[in-house]
Amino acid sequence: MEQFLQNTLQNSQDAFQKWRKIPFEEIQKYFTQLFEILNDRKQEFATIITQEMNKPIAQSVSEIEKCAALCDYYATAENILKTEQLETEFQISEIHHEPLGVILGVMPWNFPFWQAIRFAVPTILAGNVIVLKHASICEKSGETMQEIFEKAGFPKGVFTFLKVSHTEVEEMIAHPIISGVSLTGSEAAGRKIAETAGKNLKKCVLELGGSDAFIVCEDADVSKAAKDGAQARLQNNGQTCVAGKRFIIHEKIYQDFVEKFTEEYKKYQPENPMNKETKLGLMAREDLASDLEKQYQKALNNGAKAIVALESVGSMAFKPGVLEMNPENPIAQEELFGPLAMVFKVKNDEEALQIANNTMFGLGNAVFTSNKERALFFAENLESGSVAINQIFRSDVRLPFGGRKNSGYGVELSMYALKEFTAPKTIIGK
Ligand code: NDP
Repeated sequence: MEQFLQNTLQNSQDAFQKWRKIPFEEIQKYFTQLFEILNDRKQEFATIITQEMNKPIAQSVSEIEKCAALCDYYATAENILKTEQLETEFQISEIHHEPLGVILGVMPWNFPFWQAIRFAVPTILAGNVIVLKHASICEKSGETMQEIFEKAGFPKGVFTFLKVSHTEVEEMIAHPIISGVSLTGSEAAGRKIAETAGKNLKKCVLELGGSDAFIVCEDADVSKAAKDGAQARLQNNGQTCVAGKRFIIHEKIYQDFVEKFTEEYKKYQPENPMNKETKLGLMAREDLASDLEKQYQKALNNGAKAIVALESVGSMAFKPGVLEMNPENPIAQEELFGPLAMVFKVKNDEEALQIANNTMFGLGNAVFTSNKERALFFAENLESGSVAINQIFRSDVRLPFGGRKNSGYGVELSMYALKEFTAPKTIIGK
């Protein structure tokens, strides 16, 4: 390992030895400071996001507002990590929730601030310190977050942004100072990080891709489902892990839904992402645009029909597309990370459920129906970390967020996230 990296890890470890002794309520005060900085400078940070990965600027502002709300939530959260005393036959019988140490975050480009802040805040509040390897195209976001954590009063070494290669990430996970790793990213990166973490017996949290179902039953409010569906698919230029990607529609309302959905779709046309009114920006990288185009062609070659053609506008933008699919199409098993929807026609709820669960992903499915029992049937049987009823699924800081199957494991957000990188220590005595 390069000397600079060795020194950085040592600095983080030294910072951790002091940080672990700071009371929970004291740490919370720093998050109030961070909340204020994020609110005060949201335009500046939003501009960095849009410059780095082409998200429409209004959505970048919302991302920063969501980060600020997260800081506020944890700044005022109950301390669930305080020592627990239990009644047993022992005189002393306690559980101490101890932080693990220096935790590595490997974060993606699709929500450059949100993904990193979502990982860092509860991890640091639990008494850990973090090092961040951000996506290569988001280094300015990484540097800026370190700067604002320090401005908020966090001592140096509590939040450290690092420019490192994939090989160095592997070396870091193997290093004794790193006690755990959290990755948000692709399935391929997840397998690699989990393999290295497993080999080195390190705790690992994975938030990977998704191909969520968006089920519309025949008793649903079709206009609302169509409007929400277009937003779910096209927000963040279609590059959201948790988003409706497979639209599963009852045959009785299929035609009506498709007409309304494509009408809504037309409202999203690629524009300059810096314009406040823009709803669809550009893809984050050329290779990601090229991958989407290849998947589109492969779907067509395997019998999919283009209800709305996916049209390239330059090398990084698309007029969004809609594909009518049959479940056997190999692309139905892939994640489409861009402005391209798949639509399936089904005869009944059982078929809808079967297609919805016929994927290796499982993040945040959605179902639209006016019948409560039907909603419950889907909520209980969909294989995903979350289910939304009659609304788009959106992560919410108050509620746990995580995947099933190849979408990963471990929990982010809510009070649950506070315990992800802690370990309970049992103390008994007479
Ligand atoms: P990656 O998973 O490759 O990138 C995410 C992060 O992981 C980046 O910081 C990246 O670094 C890092 N990384 C990737 N591979 C390794 C490795 N072997 N060792 C260490 N670090 C690694 O995503 P891509 O940018 O390539 O996007 C490809 C696909 O991933 C998308 O099309 C989408 O399907 C999925 N994805 C899902 C996301 C989600 O929110 N769950 C977010 C982003 C992507 P670097 O940038 O330097 O390569």
